[in-house]
Amino acid sequence: MRTHLLTAGWTTHPAGVARRGAGRAPVRFPALVAVVEHADGVLLFDTGYAPRVRAAVSRGLDRVYGALLPVHVTPEESVAAQLAARGVAADDVTTVVLSHLHADHVGGLRDFPGARVVADRGAVALARSARGVGRLRRGLVPALLPADLPDRVVDPGDLPPADQADLAPLAGARDVLGDGRVLVLPLPGHSAGHLGLVLRTPGVDLVLVGDAAWHTRAVSHGELPHPVARAVTADWARYRGTLAALDALARRRPDVLVLPSHDEDAIVAARAALAG
Ligand SMILES: [Zn+2]
Repeated sequence: MRTHLLTAGWTTHPAGVARRGAGRAPVRFPALVAVVEHADGVLLFDTGYAPRVRAAVSRGLDRVYGALLPVHVTPEESVAAQLAARGVAADDVTTVVLSHLHADHVGGLRDFPGARVVADRGAVALARSARGVGRLRRGLVPALLPADLPDRVVDPGDLPPADQADLAPLAGARDVLGDGRVLVLPLPGHSAGHLGLVLRTPGVDLVLVGDAAWHTRAVSHGELPHPVARAVTADWARYRGTLAALDALARRRPDVLVLPSHDEDAIVAARAALAG
């Protein structure tokens, strides 16, 4: 099993949104995509931005989303194009695991029409039924979701339970590929049905936390987002609980690497750790 950490486009926020007190200077938030090459096929964790996101957030109500979170992505930066450049065809991707359904995580999903999609089934139903301001506040852009998504969704609850004693206090892990090396687990709070992925690699257990944390210091030093970010957080108490659980795991196990989706420095460090 080989793991590659790609980024597919980026947005900017004022630094102080993700880290209270960090000021108004814009910082870059890359959209992480993890690529796992496995004997069973290629698995992706999230799909980043793709050019279709820019088009989708330039229409109607979704223009608000595009104004708040400007989309920067070239055709070459989409995950499908980056995989093609490595000789991996879209059809080689057999599984996509989605942390959640925000646009910067599902932007490339339509490029992989043959993949099963491991995602929270309730979150998928919500994304298809939400309307108006409620939909916008949840960061959902339905045009990015394939029409046949409900038929392709595999809920974590449909997968076999995983050996997870060493992941405590995290719980609820399920085995995605049947060999105990790729586990999906709930990391609740940021959005409905938010999921993380554990990759058991030879040197390190990589815990891809999606948006359960926007930077590693949220986990290790309790540096929380600005209160304005609470407005887009589905359940603040559970969000705090997830951060505490990740911190407890990381303190107990130095071989665990917690990797948020939008922390550029952490992505660079994780690439180095994977390279051994
Ligand atoms: Zn998000």
